[in-house]
Amino acid sequence: MDDLEVICPYCGQPVMVTPDIGPDTDILSIDCSVCCRPLQVHLHRESDGSYTGWAQSEHGE
Ligand SMILES: [Zn+2]
Repeated sequence: MDDLEVICPYCGQPVMVTPDIGPDTDILSIDCSVCCRPLQVHLHRESDGSYTGWAQSEHGE
């Protein structure tokens, strides 16, 4: 499974995410590897099996 790059909403830096999620989950909670703040990464599985995603702050901003 390929890593995914999302943009941290806090520091604006790209963060690599491994989409190792279960079949019923599409939100991943991680800490930004740059600024260490908590992110929620929303994942969307494409029809070809790859993932796209975007990051939100913990409070959904
Ligand atoms: Zn950050």
